[in-house]
Amino acid sequence: ANGSSGKHEGFEVPKVEVKFTKLFINGNFVDAISGKTFETRDPRTGDVIARIAEGDKADIDIAVKAAREAFDNGPWPRMTGYERGRILHRFADLIDQHTEELAILDTVDAGKLFLVGKLRDIPGAAHLLRYYAGAADKIHGATLKMSQQVQAYTLKEPVGVVGHIVPWNYPTTMFFFKVSPALAAGCTVVVKPAEQTPLSALFYAHLAKEAGVPDGVLNVVPGFGPTAGAAVASHMDIDKISFTGSTEVGRLVMEAAAKSNLKSVSLELGGKSPVIVFDDADVDMAVNLVNFATYTNKGEICVAGTRIYVQEGIYDAFVKKAAELAKKSVVGDPFNPRVDKDQYEKILKYIDIGVREGATLVTGGKPSGDKGYYIEPTIFTDVKDDMAIAQDEIFGPVMSLIKFKTVEEVIQKANNTRYGLAAGIVTKNIDIANTVSRSIRAGVIWINCYFAFDPDAPFGGYKMSGFGKDMGMDGLEKYLQTKTVATPLYNTPW
Ligand code: NAD
Repeated sequence: ANGSSGKHEGFEVPKVEVKFTKLFINGNFVDAISGKTFETRDPRTGDVIARIAEGDKADIDIAVKAAREAFDNGPWPRMTGYERGRILHRFADLIDQHTEELAILDTVDAGKLFLVGKLRDIPGAAHLLRYYAGAADKIHGATLKMSQQVQAYTLKEPVGVVGHIVPWNYPTTMFFFKVSPALAAGCTVVVKPAEQTPLSALFYAHLAKEAGVPDGVLNVVPGFGPTAGAAVASHMDIDKISFTGSTEVGRLVMEAAAKSNLKSVSLELGGKSPVIVFDDADVDMAVNLVNFATYTNKGEICVAGTRIYVQEGIYDAFVKKAAELAKKSVVGDPFNPRVDKDQYEKILKYIDIGVREGATLVTGGKPSGDKGYYIEPTIFTDVKDDMAIAQDEIFGPVMSLIKFKTVEEVIQKANNTRYGLAAGIVTKNIDIANTVSRSIRAGVIWINCYFAFDPDAPFGGYKMSGFGKDMGMDGLEKYLQTKTVATPLYNTPW
């Protein structure tokens, strides 16, 4: 299937060629059992890019069988960590050789910035793979000093067959958050990519095979949530599920796990992250940081900083400069459409709710352009903590500004949310920075920066933003389980 190419708003869009459109099961690209396909569209134009095989329960069953066989009898969990690491390094090298092609796939599938994909997401995926490739031969347990004459030690073993369900906003990053540590641990996996963005996942399956990942170890089954996704969550032969997506669906996944085989569950869910700007901050620096925190990836990012608390002394200056900067944003290139019409309509609905609840619309608030799904960067002031625009994850370019007076007050306000994914603090006062970072119940705190990610830095939520970290050694740990082995010493009566 070939999509559009040529000039777009003065930007040369490389030709899109979609090579892989079928399910990847047991090392082969295959049609769905039902023969069904679904279309994936380019959000820049609404054009169909390709038709993708639509996996369902029957296909998930076959993929899990292959993953089970590969885990129980195949070489992957049995080879040394060093050998697994070598294969994962080769996989990372192949990603580097296809950076541009992969970035194009994410651009046309998810409406992502092409250059961000090319310079950040795709190289970032290779970096993450290499981090875990290096960890694969450093997995070990402990020797235990038992109180009796017993020798004991722990083994760290892979949890088994893992189901991965991921969202559309970062198709490549989400895929590697999940797959890299699971493969390094020696697990076998079945990935259900988001229905909006299956293209790069299928390409990665192909590259994994080329790198030497044995058949059955990595399976990719595109399909819809209530069918293919639900089949993963409730499967009796999947040992663990790691899910990234909305809090609503995370709840369904956990329910399905509980009702089926009690598979262990990790959830990376939504957020409504606060950024707190104190009076001593440089206003220009703070405005730039907050603009970046709210509008990066069009606001379609789980850790987006969208509840902005600004201390009263600089509040007015901040609002003025934040509005000026938002107005300057360029909307509508091969750049930044919403991922699909539903998401676009959801954001406009929230903007309408914000106005009706009595917040003041300072800038933006309208669709932008007449083709594709674009929305202007939007700022509300006079936002109250209990308004929907201060509590709900909008997943769009909408900033809510709230004034505060004291440190104690803002800690209480910032924690007044069901979420706890991330938080930002802007201040030069180290005492305030330390106190506030300990007091905020969130999994990541960024002080005088935002979106500072690294493969070595664990990432994941508190509260209803989920549990179980991605990245770092914590991200590897969740694909391992601990076994204690004990034996009495020689001549010890037992
Ligand atoms: P979503 O929950 O609608 O979908 C996520 C995945 O779940 C998709 O693959 C979907 O097909 C699948 N799914 C849907 N219904 C299902 C069901 N009944 N059973 C099993 N699987 C099902 O989320 P989305 O709209 O794709 O992504 C946006 C959400 O993801 C936001 O809430 C965002 O905050 C969150 N997110 C979180 C993180 C994080 O790391 N915490 C990262 C990115 C996105």
